[in-house]
Amino acid sequence: MKITLLGTGDAVGTPKIGCSCPACLDALEGGKSRRLRFSVLVESEAGRVLVDTSPDLRWQLLKKKISHIDGVIWTHSHYDHYAGFGDFHRIQNGVKVYGLKNTLDYILNYLSFMKPVRHDVRFYEPFELIGLEIMLIEVTHPPLEESAGVLITDGRSKIVITGDTSRDIPEKSLSLMFEPDLLIADAIIPPRGTIPKHMNSKEAMELALELKAKNVVLTHLSHMFPPHEESVKKWPLGYDGMEFEF
Ligand SMILES: [Zn+2]
Ligand SMILES: [Zn+2]
Ligand SMILES: [Zn+2]
Repeated sequence: MKITLLGTGDAVGTPKIGCSCPACLDALEGGKSRRLRFSVLVESEAGRVLVDTSPDLRWQLLKKKISHIDGVIWTHSHYDHYAGFGDFHRIQNGVKVYGLKNTLDYILNYLSFMKPVRHDVRFYEPFELIGLEIMLIEVTHPPLEESAGVLITDGRSKIVITGDTSRDIPEKSLSLMFEPDLLIADAIIPPRGTIPKHMNSKEAMELALELKAKNVVLTHLSHMFPPHEESVKKWPLGYDGMEFEF
């Protein structure tokens, strides 16, 4: 199985429009602080699926030379996680989409011009896609009532994507997330402050420790971090195009 972080930015992306902070300047110059919005590509020998469809999806697919997807899993109904699905218009019809009921209702209403094949999924009920076992687990992302993390396993390796969440993750989810080979964790800001609906990088690293994650990478990163090369001395920040093989 192969995992690629197609977009490691937060909802506004880096550079942020109109900003000239050090991270945004590095991003404008083409440095690794340049972050598209959130999508993760998951590949197996049987195909490829996306976890979330960034508003920047078009460029993400072009860069990876991807013209066909075997499924999309949506974690929640925030714009930065689904809006790029419209980029499949006149490219691929009948894409299989997976998500929680209210999440799918909301997103498919927005995307009513698209005709994907809907698959309603419930928390903690595993399903199979491209030969992988996938499970949505409950996380906490107020004020949204439902937001999911994603567990992926090929029977040997276990990958956990926290999705957008605060540190306040339900116990049942934590026990299922335990000892991942890779934890892909939401960490929107450095530990200068807290945001009720996301983890900061300190909280994400504490989560990794609690879960005994064998490897951790932080994502959903804002321009509040110092430029990437400086930040990675302190935290295991992901970057766009970063790959992991299992
Ligand atoms: Zn988000
Ligand atoms: Zn900035
Ligand atoms: Zn969100």
